[in-house]
Amino acid sequence: MIVDNLTDLIPVRDEVQSFLNKTHRLLIGGNWVEAAEGETFEVINPADKKVISHVARGRKEDVQRAVAAARKTFDSGVWHRKIGPRTRGKMIWQLADLMESRADDFAQLESLDNGKSIKVARGADVQLAIDMFRHFAGYADKLGGETIPTEVPYTPGARYLNYTLREPVGVVGQIIPWNFPLLMAAWKVAPALACGNCVVLKPAEQTPLSAILLGELIQEVGFPAGTFNLVNGFGDAGAALAAHMEVDKVAFTGSTEVGYEIVKASAGNLKRISLELGGKSPNIIYADADIEGAIKGAASAIFFNQGQCCCAGSRLFVERDVYDQTVEGLSNIGKNIRIGPGMHPKTEIGPLVSEEQFRRVSNFLSSGRKDGAKAVVGGNPCSGDLSQGYFVEPTVFTETKPDMSIVCEEIFGPVLTVIPFQDPEEMLKWSNDTQYGLAAGVWTKDVSKAHRTAEMLKAGTVWINCYNMFDAASPFGGYKQSGYGREMGKHVLELYTQVKSVWVGI
Ligand code: NAP
Ligand code: MG
Repeated sequence: MIVDNLTDLIPVRDEVQSFLNKTHRLLIGGNWVEAAEGETFEVINPADKKVISHVARGRKEDVQRAVAAARKTFDSGVWHRKIGPRTRGKMIWQLADLMESRADDFAQLESLDNGKSIKVARGADVQLAIDMFRHFAGYADKLGGETIPTEVPYTPGARYLNYTLREPVGVVGQIIPWNFPLLMAAWKVAPALACGNCVVLKPAEQTPLSAILLGELIQEVGFPAGTFNLVNGFGDAGAALAAHMEVDKVAFTGSTEVGYEIVKASAGNLKRISLELGGKSPNIIYADADIEGAIKGAASAIFFNQGQCCCAGSRLFVERDVYDQTVEGLSNIGKNIRIGPGMHPKTEIGPLVSEEQFRRVSNFLSSGRKDGAKAVVGGNPCSGDLSQGYFVEPTVFTETKPDMSIVCEEIFGPVLTVIPFQDPEEMLKWSNDTQYGLAAGVWTKDVSKAHRTAEMLKAGTVWINCYNMFDAASPFGGYKQSGYGREMGKHVLELYTQVKSVWVGI
């Protein structure tokens, strides 16, 4: 359902408008600089396809400049050694305070750039991003090592003090996607900086803006020049970062295809990598669930952020007894959910991020219909007034077959497949029958069944009677081809530190 008064948008704030009016540059070694080749690219608002800003396009040479700046700063020790750990934490906390003071600006930028609902941007993306900096500010002065009792067999009677130091990895390249631009930057930048690394961040070409504002605030706090470098650009810039011999680690979130490329590119200097890739997450409704709650949860698991979530609950398995009721409930939600521009106060579903994504999802919709699946709601790109942007209808497919591409492949759009089951064992086999293993959902009132199911699911996160819950303190990452390494929580410290063992003869 289209929102009422489609053109009644929240006014763009003055601060945001003047930010958009600038032609943005790259942040390298503490200075905002033009791209080496002087190129820029346009930033599009996917709600109306209009150009809203211009950004410098960094390429290989710019990546090289940024890595050199990060290398110099890291090797000087200014960030991880000369500035004390508590001061480091305080600076990260100050950054969080500045972000909080600009939260409405961030939310508007995110909505205009990505298309997402301003309410979601403000309440989820921006707040969770601020939480990341607060949470990891607190780790900066708690990254201690240990002392280890030893007995070396070939030096009988000799004694040693053996201790470990937890040190930063060094220069970290971070490549992020467009679905949660600020939040994905925060997931990566906050722990990396807290651990004392220097960063080169490469945002997605579709959504470069919020990272630029983040860079401006990092400058305002006064982090040492070269601690945080920002190179906006396209895939070639990401590839240059992944292959760079002076980069010690690459953290990547995006498609599984590019994930393979990152692994190959890392081989040159065996840099550490962590990958957060795609998903085709199963969401399971047992007949003994609170069905109304489960239906709402299942709808939000797929429609949240227009379905552009790596952990979207895109395969819904429903126990036969409650199947019809569930399909009807989902269809009602799909029909009534309000579609509109992200900047409309009533919008629940915005446009997809880009023309490419719009084509991709539209192709999945037609392939689903062609393969014989039934769209009980949606099934098409939006028409009429909404054809001004990249809108597609929230869609629920039934009567699917396991080998249909809408069932097997990550769509990254508001497209759900609903599959009935009778035998729980068989359903669990289907659930796990995918290359991916990012997340899963379970809906039941039976506590034992809930935990047993959670144990059987091959996924990095399992939500029981909820979906899409995140906290800076809780780890997130994939099993199988959804990637490796865990972001957030104490687990992410493993990604951004390395352990040195020091022996002292005493
Ligand atoms: P993508 O190509 O994997 O992009 C992710 C990031 O990697 C972007 O910053 C991208 O830059 C960069 N990149 C592209 N090619 C690269 C290369 N060869 N080496 C290093 N970095 C490179 O994802 P996409 O094209 O935006 O989206 C395609 C599909 O990926 C989606 O439909 C969805 O299925 C999946 N996806 C998953 C996630 C997730 O969170 N797991 C997020 C986004 C997309 P450019 O933006 O300039 O290309
Ligand atoms: Mg955009």
